[in-house]
Amino acid sequence: MSTLIKGGLVVTQNWKREVVKGDVLVENGRISAVGHAKARPDETVDATGCIVMPGLINCHSHVAMTLMRSVADDVRLEQFLDKTFAIDAKRTAEDIAVGAALGCLEMAKSGTTSFVDLYYSEDVIAKSVEQVGLRACLGWAVLDEEFTTQKGKPIRNCEEFIKAHKNRPLIKPVVAPQGVYVCSDETLMQAKELAAREGTFCHYHLSETRFEVYEYEKKKGKRPVQHLADIGFFSKGDLAAHCVWLTINEVRELAKAGVRVAHCPTSNMKLASGGVAPVPEMHHEGVVVSLGTDGCSSNNGLDMFLEMKFASLMHKAHRWDATVLSAQKCLDMATVEAAKCIGAEKELGSIEPGRKADIVILDANQPGMVPTRPDNVVANLVYAAPSVALRDTMVDGKFVVRERKAVRVDEADVIKKAQDAADGLIAKAKR
Ligand SMILES: [Zn+2]
Repeated sequence: MSTLIKGGLVVTQNWKREVVKGDVLVENGRISAVGHAKARPDETVDATGCIVMPGLINCHSHVAMTLMRSVADDVRLEQFLDKTFAIDAKRTAEDIAVGAALGCLEMAKSGTTSFVDLYYSEDVIAKSVEQVGLRACLGWAVLDEEFTTQKGKPIRNCEEFIKAHKNRPLIKPVVAPQGVYVCSDETLMQAKELAAREGTFCHYHLSETRFEVYEYEKKKGKRPVQHLADIGFFSKGDLAAHCVWLTINEVRELAKAGVRVAHCPTSNMKLASGGVAPVPEMHHEGVVVSLGTDGCSSNNGLDMFLEMKFASLMHKAHRWDATVLSAQKCLDMATVEAAKCIGAEKELGSIEPGRKADIVILDANQPGMVPTRPDNVVANLVYAAPSVALRDTMVDGKFVVRERKAVRVDEADVIKKAQDAADGLIAKAKR
């Protein structure tokens, strides 16, 4: 099967960060030519007046929580947690499936082709991911038994999930020790060992709020990163979400250990974590940083274009410096750097021959995207209004969104089921 995407403005994200006018040829799920492609493809897609770019990678989410979109806003963190936990405790496997399908649909239609998830029942979520046709690293939540609603031991459940999903083309199973506040040292080390044994990585929350860091320090006498470094928990290739409350020494500790970071600016600003993750320092010290939306209850969407914009604006406003986190840097964090964060730097993140064909096509003739030229296209992608311009999304060489419509699922059906499930959950939680 081959597809020729013809005549677009291609934002390659190759090492020279070239923007070229031309074609992209996709053969058997991989990109085989960029620029001028001489081929007789099975299918030709006209991309005249369009931007062709690598699919975005969302490095931290809880995709099934879309059903909790806008249920607890403009409230303090404790009220936020009370409200979301009350609803979360009532959901069934079916709720998780429809919530995940809605989230995958939202991502596919806003230019995200891969995401990292942290939740339980990832086996249910995997089915929704495959239905919509996205690529995902699914992290089964591991925590101490006393804190969980999972049946059986979380570490065992995670192991079973990994063994059953190891060889799926679009799913990479991951170990997800939820956070130090619900994981003993023993649980953390078991998670680390499981990841090593199964050849995958650990994804976890780390130092998200001041409260969490200060409480931990009171209890353990050390800040979380220092303690985790001392017990030998960190492994090269770990992916830590948030990392808001870090000292410069902790940033250096993460750099030394080869731990990558998923920065979640919208969630951090909205929940008023009170701090700003030291991303410029992470970059300076050589930490690989990507972006994540976090769950829909704290964001309230999964749009990675917005995440790039907010990341840039957050740090510019915080540092009084318009030069920090440039548009190009933010696009890197959502593509090539994100690919490193999930260990897929040779496969994903750019439009180059040999890479997997995860590609997004945007119609640059939308009011909010005009004018678009090779010299301003990256700024338009980060600062203008790209989501409304999204036309097509391809994952692994196959379109999952074409001409603004989901290809593999009945959109109206996914939306109706999600609305009904969310209404039911809220009614149950009120009882
Ligand atoms: Zn999270």
